[in-house]
Amino acid sequence: MSASATPANRAAEQPLVDVRELRTWFELRQWGFLKLGSVKAVDGVSFSLYRGESVAFVGESGCGKSSLARTLLGLHRPTEGDVVFEGESMSRLGRRGMRDYRARVGYVQQDPFGALAPFMDVRRILAEPLKVQGVRGRAERERRIRDVLEEVRLSPADDYLRKFPHMLSGGQQQRVVIARALILEPSLLIADEPVSMLDASVRVEILDLLYRIQQKRELTLAFITHDLSTVRHFADRIFVMYAGRVVETATVTELLDHPQHPYTRALLAALADPDPDNALAMREVPGGEAPSLLNPPSGCRFHPRCPRHMPGVCDVDDPGNFEPRPDHLSACWLHR
Ligand code: SF4
Repeated sequence: MSASATPANRAAEQPLVDVRELRTWFELRQWGFLKLGSVKAVDGVSFSLYRGESVAFVGESGCGKSSLARTLLGLHRPTEGDVVFEGESMSRLGRRGMRDYRARVGYVQQDPFGALAPFMDVRRILAEPLKVQGVRGRAERERRIRDVLEEVRLSPADDYLRKFPHMLSGGQQQRVVIARALILEPSLLIADEPVSMLDASVRVEILDLLYRIQQKRELTLAFITHDLSTVRHFADRIFVMYAGRVVETATVTELLDHPQHPYTRALLAALADPDPDNALAMREVPGGEAPSLLNPPSGCRFHPRCPRHMPGVCDVDDPGNFEPRPDHLSACWLHR
């Protein structure tokens, strides 16, 4: 973790990424023309990320964290709001601007095999982004490819350059994905569940590799995960997401030691004791499913599952952010 992790002591710094009231919605249509509504995958999210920090976005499947990641990558255009990256507004970027933008944001996907073109060998996989970004000269491209393979510990490079994805193990495939994400020397690296499809024995190695690269390059790392247990060791801050929104934010130790929002408390309780017979641990674990993002619940979106739901308040009014502890935000009426 970086020493200057809290946003308070970086307030004078220009953020690397400034996300302002971001909404990423997807129209849902029947038979191609009948509009059924909009899936509000990201619905009013604001935060800043600083250079060299490592943050984790945590939440259940369908909470909007991957849509948020893809918006930050420039793969989805915001429906409303904006992403300001290194002082430049995404909403003002044209085609060429977006191409340059994507070179500054690296992406590590969840499924390494699906992320790699099966008909390309490792050399070609790593050469493609360099060609697209106009890095001329075969020798220069070859030097950068070999350097990045060393960095992700696929060494010696000669053993891997001519291999196709199916000739590599899952861990080696993920190292190639990480190498491809790094080869254009991005300022921000987004890792979307980067170890969830790997064998348990390889997960720690890949997490350790990401951590070391982030530290060495002083990268900003945004780690997307449903698993709170993986973030303690390398994240500076955590953003807990629920139904398209960020419901709690704090530094990692503060949030894990003093969770405030009932949803975060439920996630942690489930983590602390997965035994369904333990009534104490289960007391705060919410039943039911995450809500539909087509028609999210009124008021606080967590109210249908919340054990502390206050009728007439939580189901009516949307809680804003409260600060129950210093530098710790929670969107819950309990902190009113
Ligand atoms: Fe629960 Fe109400 Fe807080 Fe929402 S606002 S998390 S329903 S107590």
